[in-house]
Amino acid sequence: MKYAVQLEKIHKTYDSGTVALKGIDLHIEQGDFFALLGPNGAGKSTTIGILAQLVRKTSGEVSIFDMNIEQQSLEVKASIGLVPQEFNFNIFEKVEDIVYNQAGYYGLTRNEAKPEIDRLLLALGLDGKRKSKSMELSGGMKRRLMIARALVHKPRLLILDEPTAGVDVELRLEMWDFLKELNQNGTTIILTTHYLEEAEKLCRHIAIIDKGEIRKGGTMSEVLGGKSLEEVYLDIIKK
Ligand code: ADP
Repeated sequence: MKYAVQLEKIHKTYDSGTVALKGIDLHIEQGDFFALLGPNGAGKSTTIGILAQLVRKTSGEVSIFDMNIEQQSLEVKASIGLVPQEFNFNIFEKVEDIVYNQAGYYGLTRNEAKPEIDRLLLALGLDGKRKSKSMELSGGMKRRLMIARALVHKPRLLILDEPTAGVDVELRLEMWDFLKELNQNGTTIILTTHYLEEAEKLCRHIAIIDKGEIRKGGTMSEVLGGKSLEEVYLDIIKK
């Protein structure tokens, strides 16, 4: 089996003393569409932060596409695209500048980046907004801009933290189609979500995390065992 992500016994205690992760193991196959589910404060963002090297683990081993996250930090960064929950671009910057600057951050010239940027802005319905300041975009467009920006360097792994939070139903469906196609074309995708329906529609494997521990994981049908995801989820997090 080839893995995109291997986490072994990951612990994280923040400086405040909060224990966010209590030794989690997680193995995500290359090409998977994987959901990390759990209530607020479960440890989802911490897990993602560790993969994206924004959060320093307290202990444990992380490898991404068989690369050690510490020894091959730059290569690991180049293989990951992250869509964080919060909009974190400059609101005065134009849409196309935001994506071109991100490409520059990964060492791509404008000419090298242009074909992918054109493709992404078109696919995400942002082509007509290239010259708009990002503050002029709707919430759904801002979310799509975050996705375009995360993909400019063609990462093999895309990580989305609550990608459809606050996104209306119609747009959510469009975003699902976009992500499904991306996954079919070979990109491994990990998402965290509160929407169980989202996980059920999109994901082949899931893990349910609560209070810093993985409580259940496997293929969607293994985890469901004939029940609805809501039933399984509530059973776990009420314990
Ligand atoms: P989730 O994404 O599942 O909501 P988080 O990973 O954000 O969970 O949080 C897990 C725990 O760690 C929570 O108790 C949260 O309050 C705490 N936590 C998260 N980030 C920090 C931080 N930067 N400093 C201190 N505690 C944090």
